Amino acid sequence: MVWTNSKDSALRERAQAVIPMGMYGHQSVMLLPDDYPQFFDRAEGAYLWDVDGNRYLDFMCGYGPNLFGYGHAGIDQAYFDRARRGDTMTGPGEAMVELAEALTAQVTHADWAMFCKNGTDATTMALMIARNHTKKSTVVLAKGAYHGAAPWCTPLKNGVTKADRANQIFYEYNDVESLEAAVREAGGDLAAIFASPIKHDTFVDQELPDPAYARRARELCDEHGALLIVDDVRAGFRLARDCSWALVGVKPDLSSWGKAIANGHPISALLGSDAARMAAATIYATGSYWFSAAPMAASLATLKLIAGTDYLERTIALGERLRAGLDEAAARHGFGLRQTGPAQLPLIMFDDDDTSAKGYLWNNALLKRGVYFHPWHNMFICAAMTESDIDFALTAADDAFKVVKASGPLEPVAKLQFLHQMVDGA
Ligand code: PMP
Repeated sequence: MVWTNSKDSALRERAQAVIPMGMYGHQSVMLLPDDYPQFFDRAEGAYLWDVDGNRYLDFMCGYGPNLFGYGHAGIDQAYFDRARRGDTMTGPGEAMVELAEALTAQVTHADWAMFCKNGTDATTMALMIARNHTKKSTVVLAKGAYHGAAPWCTPLKNGVTKADRANQIFYEYNDVESLEAAVREAGGDLAAIFASPIKHDTFVDQELPDPAYARRARELCDEHGALLIVDDVRAGFRLARDCSWALVGVKPDLSSWGKAIANGHPISALLGSDAARMAAATIYATGSYWFSAAPMAASLATLKLIAGTDYLERTIALGERLRAGLDEAAARHGFGLRQTGPAQLPLIMFDDDDTSAKGYLWNNALLKRGVYFHPWHNMFICAAMTESDIDFALTAADDAFKVVKASGPLEPVAKLQFLHQMVDGA
C-alpha cells in the first residue's frame, strides 16, 4: 500500500480551528519527525493503524500503557463484563478491594493502595502524603525527571508561578554527592526524596540506577524521617514484577503507578507502606472517575498476567534481539548508535548527531516502512510482539540506515531548536 496522509492532514487542519495548536501535550506530533500521523483509527496487538490506514509496528505502546497488546482479549473481557454491570457509580465496586489486595501482594513494599486516573494524580498524592507525614515542605528531586503535568512538576513554566515550585531542590540522578548536598540544603525541612526508577529523561541517554545511590537515598530519608518515593508510572512492571527498585534491593515508602497496570484502561495507583498509612488517610484526595469499576477489573486481569506469564522475560529477550540487530546494522552502515536503558525500554540515538538530524531522518524512514519509533523518548516493547515483528523492524531499520547514508549533509532540526528555546527560556 502506498503511504498517504490526506485524512490526517485534513483532521489536523480542522483541529487547528477547535483545539489549541491542533493538539497539545506529549502526544502532539509537532516535535516529531515529518509525516508522523497525529490521528489513529485502530490498534490491535503490537500494531497501530493511522486514520489513513497505514499500519505501524508500534514501539511507543501508547507511551507505555500497552504491555500485553492492544485490545488484549482477556483484559478487555474483564473490562466490558464489569462495565456492562456498572462502571462509574455512586461508589466503587468489589474490584477496588480485590485490586488493592492484588497490588499489595505483588509489590513488596506496599501495605495499602489508593487509586486515581493519571500518573500525575498519583505523584501529586505522594507529594502531599510525604508533606502530611513529616509536616515538612521540602522535596528533593532529580533534575530533568518527569513526574507529570501539574503546576509543581510540569516541564514548561508557562502558567506556573514561583510559589508552585517552592520548596524543591534538585540533584543529579545517580550522583550521591549531589543528592547529599540537596538533602543538606533542605536542612531540617526534608519531606521526601523523589526518584525515578531509572533515569528515563527525554533527549539524553538513559541510566540504570546505581545501587549505591538508591541505598543512600533510603538512608537519607531514614536519617531525616522523610519518605522515599519511587515514581514507577512509566517503568512499573516493565523492569520487575515488583516495584522497580526491588532490582537494587531498596524499598520506598511510596510508589506511584499508572500506564501498564491496566494495559491501557484508565487507572493509576499510589502504593504505600504502613509508615505512611495515617498520612495517606488524612489528605483529601478524590476524583469523579477515580472509583470506576471497569478499569479496576481490567487492572486485576492485567495483574494476573503479570504474576502468571513470562511476559517480562519475553519483552527483555525481544528488546535484546532488537538491540543486537540494530547494533549490527548500524556498524555495517558505518553509524554509531547509543542504545541506552533496559532493552525492553529502548532509547536509540545516533552518535555525532547533536542537532538530531540523522535521528529524525532515520525515524521518518522507519515510519514510512511501517515501524513507529521515537527519536528522543524511551520506547516500549510489548508482550504481543514476536521475534518476526522484531525482524521486520530490523529489515526496515537496515533500509532506513541506507536512506541516512545516501542523504549527504543534513540541516539541524528546526522544530527542536524551538523546543529547547521554550524550555530554557521559560
Ligand atoms: N511519572 C512518570 C515517570 C511518567 O512517565 C509520567 C507520564 N509519562 C507521569 C509521571 C505522569 O503520568 P500521566 O501522564 O498519566 O499523568
